[in-house]
Amino acid sequence: MIPVGFDYERPQTVDAAIALLAEHGDGATVLAGGHSLLPVMKLRLAAPEIVIDIGRLAELNYIRVDGDEVAIGAATRYRDLVISDVLAAECALLPAVARTVGDPQVRHRGTLGGAIAHADPAGDLPAAVLALDGTVVLRSPRGERKVPITEFYTGVFSSVKEPDELVVEIRVPRTGATGWAYEKFTRRSNDWAIVAVAVATMPDGATHLGLVNMGGTPLRASATEAALAEGKSIEEAAALAAEGTEPPTDSHGTPEYRNHLVTVLAKRALKTASA
Ligand SMILES: Cc1cc2nc3c(=O)[nH]c(=O)nc-3n(C[C@H](O)[C@H](O)[C@H](O)COP(=O)(O)OP(=O)(O)OC[C@H]3O[C@@H](n4cnc5c(N)ncnc54)[C@H](O)[C@@H]3O)c2cc1C
Repeated sequence: MIPVGFDYERPQTVDAAIALLAEHGDGATVLAGGHSLLPVMKLRLAAPEIVIDIGRLAELNYIRVDGDEVAIGAATRYRDLVISDVLAAECALLPAVARTVGDPQVRHRGTLGGAIAHADPAGDLPAAVLALDGTVVLRSPRGERKVPITEFYTGVFSSVKEPDELVVEIRVPRTGATGWAYEKFTRRSNDWAIVAVAVATMPDGATHLGLVNMGGTPLRASATEAALAEGKSIEEAAALAAEGTEPPTDSHGTPEYRNHLVTVLAKRALKTASA
């Protein structure tokens, strides 16, 4: 299908992108990697009047240590997460998760900021950043605000981001090179997750689990986390991974199937992370 006609702007700075967003309001849409936006536009589920392309803004393409966090520019591509020496040493969960997204073409175009902003409950990176207790940095003409990712998502494809706000940075704690795991269950390699579980060992020693495709938003396995904090075994804790979730039904499985799958993946991931 061919999208509805639209105007196209490629601003040279973040400030110029934000000014365009403010000028055009609801009629404007940000383009980053385009791997979610363009299919949606081709299906005519979105018909922006103007597309603001931030995909090549060098200002938004970086990975750097900042205090006890790693700061990642929103337009940083999956491929750059995968090959980052900084992330390999400081937060190795993220490159491991990015490596599982789609195929090489998707990983060379798709961006971390696009994945976070798109708010797809089947996305891999949102659940990983949730497991890490990351922060989403938003900028608009009103200034900058930092939203904990635990408060960012409000539903399927929706978040607290206002139409005139740009995701400019994602911040994650320096969890190091070990103590993580990602178990993604797919029917074919390169597929989206039927269910996936990200495990992160936090700097204070707590174990966090982020769940993919187990509800309308990325979710934490809170009951599993609480059981681990109480000293329960991995088997006991993993058995609780579906508590509080509302997994979807689709051609890949029923909620009952996903409820079982998530306990199996949680057990595997916890064992890997603690090995
Ligand atoms: C064949 C294929 C396979 C895929 N497989 C997977 C997979 O296995 N796992 C997975 O997680 N994803 C998968 N994806 C999706 C891919 O990860 C997308 O790249 C990602 O969801 C969106 O990132 P993007 O940079 O392409 O964003 P875009 O498509 O450019 O934008 C997505 C949405 O976010 C908004 N947006 C983008 N950047 C910003 C910003 N900085 N501030 C505010 N709003 C912004 C856009 O306006 C749009 O609404 C796949 C996509 C394809 C085409």
